[in-house]
Amino acid sequence: MRVLFATAELSPIATVGGLAAAAAGLGSELRRGGVDVDLVMPDYGGIALVDEVTFELEVPDWVGAATVRRGRHSGVGALTLVSVPGMAREHPYLQPDGEGWPDNSERFFRFARAVAALVERDEPDVLHLNDWHTGAALAALENPPPTVVSIHNLAYQGVADGSWLDVIGLNSRHYEWWGDTNPLTGALALADRVVAVSPHYATEIQTVEDGFGLDRPLRDRGDALVGILNGIDTDVWNPETDPHLPVNFSRDDIAGKVACRAALAQRVGFDDDEIPLATVVTRLTEQKGIDLLVPLIPLLEQVPMRLAVLGSGDAVLSARLHDLADSHAEHFAFVEGYDEALSHLMFGGADLFVMPSRFEPCGLTQMQAMRYGAVPVVTAVGGLVDTVPDADTNPRGLGFVADSVSPEYLLAAMFRAARAVTKKRNATALRRRMMAIDWSWTKPAERYREMYASLRETET
Ligand code: ADP
Repeated sequence: MRVLFATAELSPIATVGGLAAAAAGLGSELRRGGVDVDLVMPDYGGIALVDEVTFELEVPDWVGAATVRRGRHSGVGALTLVSVPGMAREHPYLQPDGEGWPDNSERFFRFARAVAALVERDEPDVLHLNDWHTGAALAALENPPPTVVSIHNLAYQGVADGSWLDVIGLNSRHYEWWGDTNPLTGALALADRVVAVSPHYATEIQTVEDGFGLDRPLRDRGDALVGILNGIDTDVWNPETDPHLPVNFSRDDIAGKVACRAALAQRVGFDDDEIPLATVVTRLTEQKGIDLLVPLIPLLEQVPMRLAVLGSGDAVLSARLHDLADSHAEHFAFVEGYDEALSHLMFGGADLFVMPSRFEPCGLTQMQAMRYGAVPVVTAVGGLVDTVPDADTNPRGLGFVADSVSPEYLLAAMFRAARAVTKKRNATALRRRMMAIDWSWTKPAERYREMYASLRETET
């Protein structure tokens, strides 16, 4: 079975958020299972391929020259890179000042149109689109193959001027959205299956509160909308072999976690004592809710808990976190940046992992934390609901859940979590339980494979 899988991000080449990890993880697991996956990504420039072939795609004038480079990449294997005018940039979406490129709509409409041309040329058995960047491909296809569109984050829709409706293709009416052009709406209407990246997110996005304006078109899809939980790369996220940890450890021999904790405490400037050590690894955006922790930082001493945040993004929030780290250095530390090596120690050394998201399509960090025996404290949203049952109300619970997205509820969950990990025997049982769970891509990839197969059957 040949699947053309189009994505704007792909680890480790172009990584912005969870989409990159999901595309790489799902792509490689499907390939392992025998699916012939053509990973198609924009050519952002500077990406080296071996055994490369280059060819031009036939596209309408407004797209400009669309050139394809196909070959093998050392990190991802077989890869197809599509170049259209304006695509090659240092960052896929952002200018150096953190603002989006002003021509992002144009860049990704061009890319999506080129993807449609590639589909016509290669005639894959299944087309798999991801998020708004690729959604407009279905505008241009008269006879598309069975198509799946995955929603990794509905908050981003790439809404553009209504004039694009005149050019994007014969199905453009499905992309009309209150006079504008929405590259996602058409894909949601035209795809054979719509996949949200967790079951709970699939239900949330059908509500007015969490549907980002698209709840009705999503409800209209009925059974064609499903939720499939993302996986994580369990080779990279493996405390038994992780080269970023000072000492490796496992579910059966968890002792090494003590040394990881000591190394983490030293790295962030904390005493290494009995007080529970919690961490956060995140982008600093509204979605992640880190601002909800700000009023709690002066209270950490009373919980008691120490909290270390690794994060990058919003400049105002960063400045606030630096100030708080100065004034509450004994209990709060902030490392600004995106630091993959340190993130591994933040999971490996932590007793607890805090994730106060306002919404969370799937979330990877809670799974990474659990894999490293760090007990998650989360809000009851999206994929966090699917992955973190509360340990106080569920005998198979894995973490501590704040039922409402607010500092008060988070504080209550943090209290419960601190108490639980201070009781050594209970804490060890909880850690061993969470470390036994299979968070790999094996099961999710199987679900996608079955979906592709059933779509092909229906077609024939
Ligand atoms: P999102 O995609 O919304 O940012 P996810 O939890 O789905 O959130 O995935 C984020 C990924 O990025 C995880 O693999 C996480 O470990 C990593 N990450 C996030 N922030 C940082 C950071 N500041 N430093 C290192 N890694 C980070």
